[in-house]
This record gives sequence, structure tokens and C-alpha cells, in this order.
Amino acid sequence: MALKLVIFDLDGTLLEQGLDFEAIRREIGLPPVVPILETMEALPPAARERAFAILDRREAEAAAVSRLMPGARELLGWLRGRGVRTALLTRNSRVSVETARTRHGLAIDAIVTRETHTPKPSPEGVQHLMARFGAGADETIVVGDYRYDIEAGRSAGTRTIALIAEAKAWAKDATWIASSLDEVREILQRLIERPVA
Ligand SMILES: [Mg+2]
Repeated sequence: MALKLVIFDLDGTLLEQGLDFEAIRREIGLPPVVPILETMEALPPAARERAFAILDRREAEAAAVSRLMPGARELLGWLRGRGVRTALLTRNSRVSVETARTRHGLAIDAIVTRETHTPKPSPEGVQHLMARFGAGADETIVVGDYRYDIEAGRSAGTRTIALIAEAKAWAKDATWIASSLDEVREILQRLIERPVA
């Protein structure tokens, strides 16, 4: 058992959270709290098209001014130096992710967005990435700041790291909890040094 693949969420994980999801729901006319993508998919065609136009614009604006989380570049480089594959799995659009990636010059091995796989909390994206890199569930870690990230990893059978600054009820389902990307790195370092721990 080795560490082969680390799958990162984007917003709030590698990038500082730039999307105001409540403002997006308000602009689209969705009630608070509902899952945005799933609720939009259920709208009639014209309303759905308008909603995605709003979401795409909001994401593009956020990507254009996005900032890296402290330690993100260092962590990706550190993993690369140890032969561990890295991937980005996000509910965002491809365009906004490419904007952010280019802006920050992120070196990452694969990107999966909502256009090609059922979004998290579905495990589809995680399973696709494991197959692509020949990584077993026990060789893969999913890192994210929201319950959908942890649910996607768990459903695919991987271990997970919840990256959270304050306690969250859903984080009990994560294998580990970290409050910074430096702490994520410490967890991964222990795994690399003692693979069966
Ligand atoms: Mg996130």
C-alpha cells in the first residue's frame, strides 16, 4: 500500500473561497441552502439556461480574481517530488478552473469538472481518477473543505481529509481533519513514511 493519488477540491481547498453561494442562489432565485447544481438541473429549459449563465459568470469572475490558499503550490510540488499524482475534482465549470489554473500556474496531473462526470457528492469523479492513474482506493486520498468532498471520497472507498478552520458536524465522517494545507502535508507525509498506518 502506497500513496499514489491525492484528489483536491478547488474552492476553499486549493483556492481561497471566492464564490458567495448565497448571493448566487439569490440572483438565480433559488431558496437558501439547496444544492445549486442539482436544483438548477431540475428547472425548465429556459430557466435552467438563465441559471447556468448566471453561475458561469459568477464563477468566471471569482476565478479571475482568485487567490491560492497558503501552501497550495508548495504542497502540489512536494507531492510531485515524491511521485504522487495530483488531481482536481470540482463542481465548477471547466472554463473557470482553467482560468484559475492559468492564473496561478498550477501543476496538476488531471482536472475533472461538472461537464464530464456527475458532480460530488457522487463518487464518479473519484472513481474515474483512480482508474485513470491505476490507483486503488487504499492508495488514494480526497481532500476538501465541504461535506460533498468527504462523501464522494467515502463512497469511492478512499480515505479523506477535511480541511476546515472551525468544527463542522459532517467532519466526523472524514478520516482526518486539518486546519491548513501544511497540516494536510503532515498527514500525507506520515502516510508516505508509514504506508500502513
Ligand atoms: Mg470547496
